[in-house]
Amino acid sequence: MKQIYEEYEIVVVLLSLLIAVVAAMAFYAAYLVRCRRQMSYRDSLTGLPNRQRLAKHFEQTFAGYREGYLMIIDFDRFKAINDMLGHDMGDLFIQQAARRLAQAASAGQQLFRFGGDEFLIVAEGGRAAAEALAAALLASLKQPFQLHDSEFMMTASIGISLSPQHGSDRTSLLKAADIAMYASKSAGRNRHSVYDEETKLAINRRHELERGLRKAMQLNELAIHYQPKWDADAGRLTGIEALLRWNHGKLGPVSPSEFIPISEENGMIVAITRWMMYEVCKQNRTWQAEGLPKVCVSVNMSIRVFESGMLGTMVREALADSGMDPSDLELEITESIAMRDIEGTIVQLREVKALGVRVSMDDFGTGYSSLGNLDRIPIDTLKIDQLFIQQSQVPSKQAIISTIIAMARHLQLDIVAEGVETEEQILFLQSRGCRVMQGYFYGKPMHAVALREWMLAV
Ligand code: C2E
Ligand code: MG
Ligand code: MG
Repeated sequence: MKQIYEEYEIVVVLLSLLIAVVAAMAFYAAYLVRCRRQMSYRDSLTGLPNRQRLAKHFEQTFAGYREGYLMIIDFDRFKAINDMLGHDMGDLFIQQAARRLAQAASAGQQLFRFGGDEFLIVAEGGRAAAEALAAALLASLKQPFQLHDSEFMMTASIGISLSPQHGSDRTSLLKAADIAMYASKSAGRNRHSVYDEETKLAINRRHELERGLRKAMQLNELAIHYQPKWDADAGRLTGIEALLRWNHGKLGPVSPSEFIPISEENGMIVAITRWMMYEVCKQNRTWQAEGLPKVCVSVNMSIRVFESGMLGTMVREALADSGMDPSDLELEITESIAMRDIEGTIVQLREVKALGVRVSMDDFGTGYSSLGNLDRIPIDTLKIDQLFIQQSQVPSKQAIISTIIAMARHLQLDIVAEGVETEEQILFLQSRGCRVMQGYFYGKPMHAVALREWMLAV
């Protein structure tokens, strides 16, 4: 009897042990599942909640806010770190940036890493709270980042959407904040923008122009207009400026001040300038062959053309194809082109000047060139910006115009006044020793056929 009892006790103990082991295993499996789930909600590089966690956060927390905001933070030059310093440094930067953002945000402002160099903050509050946080984040990013031995400056572009104004679900708020972030980028980066309808229309238009520009050349939507430069003392044509025109298939005429910056951003300007230089030289050569005045035609240059290192090739090709005299081609550069990389610009300009091509400084007086460098840049002509001419009845502007003319004379540079529209402006400019004028008074930019007629009529 005792033996049966003992055997029974052993079975009970074994069974209890078995139950305990199974329970422990089940508990451990549940723990593993929970860990894995938590891991899938965290970004492995920064430890921050990730994109997956955002969806949960919207369901569980954001839905309860009376008003809230979503903020996208995108770094402006992160690609440069990866390209220049390698991906390990890129990772190091992301970790440091995450720490900085987390320090600048307070407890209720939930930070996420959204992928790549994009971070996101979601919080309760209205526009004022969102903008205050954005300003604090931009300020904290101003301090240089220390990546091993290198110091790196970094800025960010921030886009903000507000709930309920711009929607209350995650998708609408993300879309609106993304549009606002692009608005910050196109307004010059290192700033924040709050979404609005106008921004949306502007961004859509920009995207449409960007897409359209890629096809504009094949679709023959780009045209070149020509504006005369007139010697008022001698009463004759002395030059022509070529100006780009774009007639968009759907949007109609688009101003160069709108599409040139876009073409500079996407790099298209290099191909456009190459095509333009070729066309302009051919056109001028045709006019000359017809017996029309032999004058210099100028093409506007972009910083991107200098950066591409293609300037010399472009000029040589255009001259060889057209057979035009090199001294009948002029390149219009700006102060910002000259100052961006002054030594590099000088080298490239010397190369084309050695061919006999002329160079002028466009919009002079409005850029940021240091006067001390003006004599180092190989130019032939200064073009006084039309802003001064338009206010040439104001004594202080008269003083500036007179000084530019005197300086050009001392540096043995020719001078052209831009945007001349009235007889008074002409008389004033002549009285100060400027004889070459360009502006609506003499002729607006016009199609080649119209300029030919204009030349025959004067
Ligand atoms: P810009 O090179 O200074 O060209 C002069 C601008 O002044 C032209 O504007 C011309 O139409 C305008 N203009 C000429 N005379 C008068 C006048 O009497 N009164 C007024 N109010 N305006 C006058 P547009 O054609 O709109 O070009 C604007 C700017 O876009 C140009 O300024 C130039 O910086 C840029 N651009 C135009 N074509 C090209 C190009 O082929 N390549 C590059 N890189 N930039 C270009
Ligand atoms: Mg110009
Ligand atoms: Mg100009």
